[in-house]
Amino acid sequence: MQLRWFALVVLSLLMWATPAQAGRFLQWRFREAENRLTFSTDTGVQPTAQLLSNPTRLVIDLPGTQLGRSSVNQRVGSLIRRVRIGQFNRFTTRVVVEMAPGYTIDPEQVQFLSARGRQWSVILPEPQRIGQQQQTDNLSIPNFRVTQNGFFIRTNATRLRRIDVDRSRDRRTIDIEFKGADIPENLLDLRRVELDRYGVEEIEFKDDDRLILTVAPDSPDWTVSGGSLGLSIVPRSGRVLDNDRPTANDDPIIIAVPRPDPSTAPPPTTTLPDDFRVPNARVLTMIDPGHGGKDPGAIGIGGLQEKDVVLPISLEVARLLSERGVSVLMTRSDDRFISLQARSAASNRARADLFVSIHANAISLSRPDVNGVETYYYTSGRRLAETVQRQILSEISIGNRGVKRARFYVLRHTSAPSILVEVGFVTGAQDAPRLADPAFRDQMAQAIANGILIYISENF
Ligand SMILES: [Zn+2]
Repeated sequence: MQLRWFALVVLSLLMWATPAQAGRFLQWRFREAENRLTFSTDTGVQPTAQLLSNPTRLVIDLPGTQLGRSSVNQRVGSLIRRVRIGQFNRFTTRVVVEMAPGYTIDPEQVQFLSARGRQWSVILPEPQRIGQQQQTDNLSIPNFRVTQNGFFIRTNATRLRRIDVDRSRDRRTIDIEFKGADIPENLLDLRRVELDRYGVEEIEFKDDDRLILTVAPDSPDWTVSGGSLGLSIVPRSGRVLDNDRPTANDDPIIIAVPRPDPSTAPPPTTTLPDDFRVPNARVLTMIDPGHGGKDPGAIGIGGLQEKDVVLPISLEVARLLSERGVSVLMTRSDDRFISLQARSAASNRARADLFVSIHANAISLSRPDVNGVETYYYTSGRRLAETVQRQILSEISIGNRGVKRARFYVLRHTSAPSILVEVGFVTGAQDAPRLADPAFRDQMAQAIANGILIYISENF
């Protein structure tokens, strides 16, 4: 009896202690003598880093991290001048280290060290006056520039998609095709630029959406990435993130951050630019809240009904997607019964591009220890399932039950790539109180919507 009471107290303490967010930014420090910035978070994080110019600043993003207090803007020294820390978006804390005007750092010498992904040290090289280095790289070709780790092409387009990189068998050429940006005409007229920089001998502009690099056989793979001002041709190690504050001379330089101990790190995440929008409502997504009406779905702790959990989440997902320009239809938007057949048929009739069914899981009430999120696909929804599952885990601290293949009716009979997200267990001691909480449901909806938007940004 007493033991049981004790167990209940421990359980409720654990539930109380479960943070709604993946991680919290704890503290930071800059040691001027060592050019060393240290910071810590309460859970493992995989930062991303880039170097922006004018003034030169190292921008470090911590996905899945909440600052949880007011922003920092502090002078820390003379050449490495300022540290700014703020909440970049709802789920990302951004740390910016700013150099004195006219000074820059060699991005290849920036060193990241971590202890279990929670304690990070960033050691910066001594800042150098901007000048010499750039002059030797000045090719004076309009719309083309050699940057500090690659090449930059000025274009008016911003949203790259379907990037296709193909390296020849002898490793001497890399053929890069892409959609979403056009190589400027003066470069197409020029046809090729001889470089001999970073192991790249020349770049041939094959077409407005295709370029071929001739490289040394030991050169890394290269790719293009899109920024707000143009294309960066960069070693294939990372993507360009949303700019800190883009100016006319910004060429983001991606800095590779080593992975911390994988057992404590959250899965890698993709950042959706804040201004991402689907133009002309050209992607149609069918959102399918499970159950409804006479069919309550699973019933869990305290009588929590699946149909009441999944409807508000689905409505919020629909709202968030519409806000970004996605066309959205729902199989139900109120508490009514819809057959499985009718759900798939509605999607097929509307020729939806994506189908996302939202459910909550259940197991016997005697198994409150079973908790977590899982996402199902049957055939074509696999990558969508992986993207959504990964996004949920990066934004929310919840158990990971993985991406699974299953022969659910709606997955088998819907022509669009389709997935079924189980947002947690109504029978789970950890999940149930959170699924009953409107704030948590909104957070879950946000993560699912972000996953769908990332998939759309990569595939449409
Ligand atoms: Zn269900």
